[in-house]
Amino acid sequence: MDEDFLLLNPGPVPVTDEVLQSMAEPMVSHRSAEFEAVYERAQDGLDYVFTQSTLSGESTADDGTSLILNGTATMGMEAAVANLVGDGGEVVSLVNGKFGRRFARIADRYASVTRVEADWGESLSVDDVAEAVTDDTDVVTMVHNETSTGLLNPAKEVGQIAADHDAVFVMDGVTSIGGDEIRLDDWNVDIAITDAQKALAAPPGVSAMYVRERAAERLDGESAPFYEDLDWHLRKADSHQTPFTSAVPLFRALAVAVEDIESEGIENRIARHRRQSAAFREGFHAMGLDSFPNTDGPTQFSNTLTAIALPEEIRGDSSEKFFDAVKDRNVSISGGQAHLGGEIFRVSNMGHLTSEQILRGIRTVGEAMQE
Ligand code: PLP
Repeated sequence: MDEDFLLLNPGPVPVTDEVLQSMAEPMVSHRSAEFEAVYERAQDGLDYVFTQSTLSGESTADDGTSLILNGTATMGMEAAVANLVGDGGEVVSLVNGKFGRRFARIADRYASVTRVEADWGESLSVDDVAEAVTDDTDVVTMVHNETSTGLLNPAKEVGQIAADHDAVFVMDGVTSIGGDEIRLDDWNVDIAITDAQKALAAPPGVSAMYVRERAAERLDGESAPFYEDLDWHLRKADSHQTPFTSAVPLFRALAVAVEDIESEGIENRIARHRRQSAAFREGFHAMGLDSFPNTDGPTQFSNTLTAIALPEEIRGDSSEKFFDAVKDRNVSISGGQAHLGGEIFRVSNMGHLTSEQILRGIRTVGEAMQE
């Protein structure tokens, strides 16, 4: 890849040279003191990101454990559900995009699932959630930042409903954690899940989760796939190890990436992501384009990625010419997923983008639309 290449997909996102170089260090055993030190560094950084992601940098929880899984966040989503309701139970899943739908599909394999749905890109109704969650509900799943549509779901309201019924609230924060506010206590989040290759700006292949006490007490590792037994992962995480062979280079890269976040300061990072997503959004609006998600209701625009509706004349098959023209300019953006293919485009501002890169992204889209 040449230096001019600009990666604006919502994950994997660009990583720093230091992160890349950390993966080229000599191999060590995953049972060595050297590896434990790497895991501990990554855990310290993850504790910081999971619990202090606020604009004021204040702590929002301290009763959990950060652990890292060899596998992307889909594995983390499955692990959470399977350890909580692997032998059956009641799950309420919120679905207004592809990843909300994925969470519900995972839960279908283990439990009885009630879906609270809205069209992709539309607000979920908090009243519908309140109606669906009962005292029999074991788990509520929600995607905080819906990557497929560029909207932010109402974590505080949903978490409160889960807590009122003593259900465990499992939040997929894959494209918000590390780039936006996360308030574990205020939002009653019991398990928060993220991926390395998104707002943490590490390479893909591992995921991380923060498991709080209320969830840890309810885990039944034996009901989960052997590899995903979270009781076991938590026990090993206490001594900075994984139950099975760790993806050593990826753990090293993650440790460096989360230390970068600490150096920037999470509050500065969140503020920067907010500025940069607003710059993308306003830049596209100034070109006469419309945002795809509908923020009437409790949803908001994502602060880490921007989804824009393609103008009518370049929708469907005609969108190919547009995406090719973007690619010809050495910029990588994403289209819509599933039925949104040919309807929208998406750009990410997760990680380390500069203002010049944001401007180039906006200019490239404008030029590609003129072709
Ligand atoms: N959840 C969300 C919101 C995502 O954006 C993604 C990845 O794009 C995932 C979960 C996990 O996907 P994967 O396991 O393919 O990394």
